[in-house]
Amino acid sequence: MTVTTTVTRSGLRAEVVSAAAVGPQRYGTVHNPARTREVVGEYALADAATIEHVVASCAAAAPLWGDLTGAERGRLLAEAAALIDTGIAERAHLLSTEQGKVLWESRLDVGGAPFLLRYYAELAERAAAEELIEDERGTSIIRRLPIGPTVVIVPWNAPVYLCMMSLAPALAAGNPVIVKPSEFAPLVLTEVLEIVSRTLPPGVLSVVPGLGAEAGTALVAHEKIRKVVFTGGTATGREVLRTAAQTIKSVSMELGGNDPAIVLDSAVIDDELVSQLRHAVFTTSGQVCFNVKRIYVQRSIHDEFLSRFREAVDQIAVGDGLDPRSTIGPLINRTQFDRARGLVERARASGARVEELGTRLDPDAWDGGHFMAPMIATALPHEAELVRVEQFAPVIPIVPFDELDQAVAWANDSDYGLAASVWSADTGHALEVARRIESGSVFINSHRIGSSDMSLPFGGIKQSGLGRNHGMWAIDECSELQAISHRPGKDFPGPHNV
Ligand code: NDP
Repeated sequence: MTVTTTVTRSGLRAEVVSAAAVGPQRYGTVHNPARTREVVGEYALADAATIEHVVASCAAAAPLWGDLTGAERGRLLAEAAALIDTGIAERAHLLSTEQGKVLWESRLDVGGAPFLLRYYAELAERAAAEELIEDERGTSIIRRLPIGPTVVIVPWNAPVYLCMMSLAPALAAGNPVIVKPSEFAPLVLTEVLEIVSRTLPPGVLSVVPGLGAEAGTALVAHEKIRKVVFTGGTATGREVLRTAAQTIKSVSMELGGNDPAIVLDSAVIDDELVSQLRHAVFTTSGQVCFNVKRIYVQRSIHDEFLSRFREAVDQIAVGDGLDPRSTIGPLINRTQFDRARGLVERARASGARVEELGTRLDPDAWDGGHFMAPMIATALPHEAELVRVEQFAPVIPIVPFDELDQAVAWANDSDYGLAASVWSADTGHALEVARRIESGSVFINSHRIGSSDMSLPFGGIKQSGLGRNHGMWAIDECSELQAISHRPGKDFPGPHNV
């Protein structure tokens, strides 16, 4: 049986098509977040029979894909990358329509896919290389084995890039993969994956569009799935862990964050700093896992910082992501919008000052989309709800601090620990502060996509995630390590010899 994924461009239907009959399919609709009445496309709601077929096909492909040499896998991934080098502008356009974000961000999202495939294509040979250890006790070999059928679950905020960040290392490590896109942004991703799958043996890459609570749960629960790589919210991550526990699967997770930025009195409050921090907060309208979500500023420079930052934020233009004048687009859906509005209203009711800034590019279209003006919240304590939760919206709380110890304690006083940043002209001092922060990444004088590149491990501590992405760390997340040893001598006493 062959399971393939096709996207019909006419009417934009993202669907799973199996050679075997899978019964009548139901469809969900994707609405444009900038014009919510506009239907951008449809995606199939995979049913139990479809999932059964796709998992069987994935499992059948596992031995073949796992037995290829690393170089062969790398060659096929590089061929796939070449196929998605073209069409980036068109796909970015479609992504801005289904996801809402501005075009340059969509181009980065879609354009990152061939880059990531090539990056892991090059690492595939290293992933399959064996490490030989010869010492006085004999010979040992350490090798990476594929874990087996893998499910990659993707969020909506950067669907193509974040999918590829998990998919490419999983494939390079020799695992066949099933991708479950988000119901809110499945169209471009499914199209990209269909193209990538053309270079791969049948069953090595499949897509199961559908709802998280149905298709996502069924895939995670399936006994033949041995690995889950999940990117999404912390609450959903808990559900996934619970489901995966039934069959003791390996699980890697990139979850939410509440990234603090600490601006020290040694920082120079210039255009560069405020522009960097503006991007760090408002990229994708605040809907990025490692955007800055709270800013602590040393009191002696607080007023100066606030005034310069307010000026920079006021220059943001909010509009349709396809409008080249837009700095930020709408929020993804009504749920996110209502949640963010609720946070803002409760902050105001409890005495905070929340300023709505920026320009509405098309006031007549404002209520027809999930648009939200960029906002700055002040006069609120570290304990306030808006400071403590992951807002995932274009509203940023700014809290002054007196002593550095207080700022460090506040930064660490969170269930999250994805990333953080320290801002200072005194790099040595900033480094000392960085060492005291509990998060997977700490950036000095930056906090943006690119601050953590492929040469650095990326992932969260505490409830921000499990495991690490980027580089060989991502390959190790998708591999089982096997040790083979031939150590004939038995006369090596000591606590470490077993
Ligand atoms: P969700 O957690 O709602 O969804 C993520 C994915 O999980 C979607 O594909 C969703 O499907 C699916 N899903 C939902 N319920 C289940 C379930 N019970 N079992 C299996 N899969 C399920 O996250 P969002 O898409 O709303 O993304 C926002 C969140 O993700 C934020 O908290 C953000 O911080 C985090 N995130 C973290 C990143 C990181 O690298 N650390 C990167 C990007 C986002 P469906 O859409 O159909 O519900």
